[in-house]
Amino acid sequence: MNLNDHTVLSPSESDRTAFRKAIYDTVDAILASIADDNAFSGINPYKLREEITALPFLTDCGESWESVLSSLKTSVLPHMLRTWSPSYMPHLHSPVLIESIASELIIAAYNSSMDSWDQGPAATEIEVKTIKELCSLFGYGPESDGVFTSGGSQSNISAAIALRDRYISKKMGWDTKKKGLPESFSKLRLYTSEISHFSFDKAAHMMGLGYDAVVKLPVDENERIDTEKARIIIRSDAENGLYPFLIAATIGTTDFGSIDNVQELRGIADEHGMYLHADAAYGSGAILSSYRERIGELSLADSITVDFHKMFLLPISASALLVKDSATLDTFQLHADYLNREEDEEDGYINLVGKSLQTTRRFDALKVYISFRMRGREGYRAIMDKAIENASYFHSRILQDDAFIAPLSPELSSVVFALKGGDERNKRARRMLLSEGIVIGQTVHKGQVMLKFTLLNPSLTHEHIDTLIGKIRQM
Ligand SMILES: *Cc1c(COP(=O)(O)O)cnc(C)c1O
Repeated sequence: MNLNDHTVLSPSESDRTAFRKAIYDTVDAILASIADDNAFSGINPYKLREEITALPFLTDCGESWESVLSSLKTSVLPHMLRTWSPSYMPHLHSPVLIESIASELIIAAYNSSMDSWDQGPAATEIEVKTIKELCSLFGYGPESDGVFTSGGSQSNISAAIALRDRYISKKMGWDTKKKGLPESFSKLRLYTSEISHFSFDKAAHMMGLGYDAVVKLPVDENERIDTEKARIIIRSDAENGLYPFLIAATIGTTDFGSIDNVQELRGIADEHGMYLHADAAYGSGAILSSYRERIGELSLADSITVDFHKMFLLPISASALLVKDSATLDTFQLHADYLNREEDEEDGYINLVGKSLQTTRRFDALKVYISFRMRGREGYRAIMDKAIENASYFHSRILQDDAFIAPLSPELSSVVFALKGGDERNKRARRMLLSEGIVIGQTVHKGQVMLKFTLLNPSLTHEHIDTLIGKIRQM
């Protein structure tokens, strides 16, 4: 069988065989590449670049499937990062549930697109159902809605744009979508923690407001927005004639997993007729854990960012933006004669393009749909609890060990700590571990270089953690 003789799937027996061969060979190649528990081969960037630069690309007659696969097996797969390894814990970058890899195969095989019903009938209906269920999981009522996005950044940016438009319309009766920014636009202010995700700065840039429109609120010793200071800053800005329009709370900061107080921030937002967004890209997973009270009542927020490619262990990309009032997403509504004719929508054909920044869009909702059905509340609770409890075990171990300092007690699955002995020792420890195939994170807390473990992997045991601590202690 020569795969080059086949192009796309069809009912013919030989195309079916070609498809099966491509998939089975790939599964075998992946399984063959998993030889040990290490996260990374440890190859240095120059050597890897040299190896990849030497590989062919667009040859005149192409290569056989076997030749491409064999070269991937020798030069590429061995140097892929293995997210499933218990030695991989630097970022909010997770191993994925096995069934979700199968979900990706279905997504790719049918290649549904979410922009119009006629490009993904079942896909559209499943996304609509999944969004409804998610809204209810997060405590939103029947007027809520949402949309899948490429990630937390897109979810945050979409929320900021939509809520700005709503604010300007309510406050000034001005239609930003049609007329652009009002004359007084430079007075608009978005408030977020000084350690929130940079996507809010990007949003301000793209919204024509600029970075200076983002006010970074100071955090307390637990890395959460200091709400007393926030209240004073926002009140004073409003008194000085500025237009505070949005507070973006972080529910699980990327670096520390710290959680802003949604209830307090809701009160401040209401004092000034502002909107409140909850960036729960990281912390949203805790909703299915035994520790859900830690993230607070997210339904108090006007919109919520949920990433499924972090704590929920689903493949990139998978994120959603949920909004309390479905009209919030009207910001992205636009009619194109070729795609989403108004008369079709009157006849029940739902065209999701009108809720998104994107046009062609992946059927990522399927991954959530399949894994939520399969795992259920109990299955996901066990996964989330394991991550949170591992972080707490890790933290308790280093608290007892006088080689380390551990200033923050973990709320979610990240632990930030340092070896005593200064910044250089900690930086060196991280590099040394990397060359041994153990990948951990590094950040800064109160001006001091810290190491970071993000314990998302449900197969991580106390023994793994003990061994790692023992290793780091020696560095
Ligand atoms: C990861 C993260 C983001 C960005 O999400 P992407 O999916 O990487 O685009 C935004 N906010 C927080 C708090 C995050 O942890």
